[in-house]
Amino acid sequence: MHATLPLLVDTNFPPIARRRLETLQVNVGYVCNQACLHCHVNAGPTRTETMTRETADQVLEYLAASGATTLDITGGAPELNPNFRHLVLGARMRGVKVIDRCNLTVLFESGQADLARFLAAEGVEIVASLPCYTEELVDRQRGAGVYEKSVAAIRELNALGYGREGSGLTIDLVYNPQGPSLPPPQAPLEQDYKRVLGEKFGIVFNRLFTLANMPIQRFGSTLVTKGQFNDYMKLLRGAHSDANLDSVMCRSLVSVDWLGYLYDCDFNQMLGLPLRVAGRPRLHLKDAMARELDGNPIVVRDHCFGCTAGQGSSCGGALAG
Ligand code: SF4
Ligand code: SF4
Repeated sequence: MHATLPLLVDTNFPPIARRRLETLQVNVGYVCNQACLHCHVNAGPTRTETMTRETADQVLEYLAASGATTLDITGGAPELNPNFRHLVLGARMRGVKVIDRCNLTVLFESGQADLARFLAAEGVEIVASLPCYTEELVDRQRGAGVYEKSVAAIRELNALGYGREGSGLTIDLVYNPQGPSLPPPQAPLEQDYKRVLGEKFGIVFNRLFTLANMPIQRFGSTLVTKGQFNDYMKLLRGAHSDANLDSVMCRSLVSVDWLGYLYDCDFNQMLGLPLRVAGRPRLHLKDAMARELDGNPIVVRDHCFGCTAGQGSSCGGALAG
């Protein structure tokens, strides 16, 4: 795989600083039952990195100390981490909202038969990737059979109340483009998804988030191989909107890796760019408990244009209205 960080170091991305922490996003490791083409963490079934119980407990301690109101759990397939349910229960006990970045197919993995019921019982919000509503494109990007299993998983979740009005159970879907282009406007695409998935399968969901592909890891490396990296960066830079700087996710989110180190966002985590505080090369959860991050400068590189291009892009979808 081609390294992309050296291509991103030289940047004129505007300086930005952190605000009050709202979301603690935790990557519990790279083990996944899938190995998608666009995966920005290079997760897969052969990865072994996984968060220990000790670190999971530090996450819960930091959650309380920092006052964050949302725990956003990601991976890999986070549910395959043996401490996943411990984290969910610990956060819910503290009244914290929990988001599970679920790949849907994990519901059919061995040992996960009761996963959907567990998520529903704890009121966990599900954010699931479905990069298109057609079978061919989903399977091309995420692997053969993924579309069919994803639909079956959404059906199971719908049956438990997910996506249904008045249930209080939320399932949002995530779209990202197949190639080096910007995502289309979020609202009309959401309508298309709802219509097609509703008519074809009778399935429902709450919102569709459209995300730009980041020029890093597997996707970035593919761009380098195809000679498209510079053109894609030109596209992102050219579509930059200052208005999006105000709401990029790193302003109010901290990302934690499977070892317990802090980053300004998941993308920086994948690039090995830790959160910098008081000149320290990196900061671990155990040293962050009493530390105020408000006002701390955010580590930016050229990939940050992926968050501010066009309608903007964050883990909660488009930034501009
Ligand atoms: S399901 Fe998600 S974490 Fe797993 S390989 Fe695909 S994109 Fe990566
Ligand atoms: S890539 Fe990360 S640090 Fe850069 S703007 Fe986006 S969220 Fe912020």
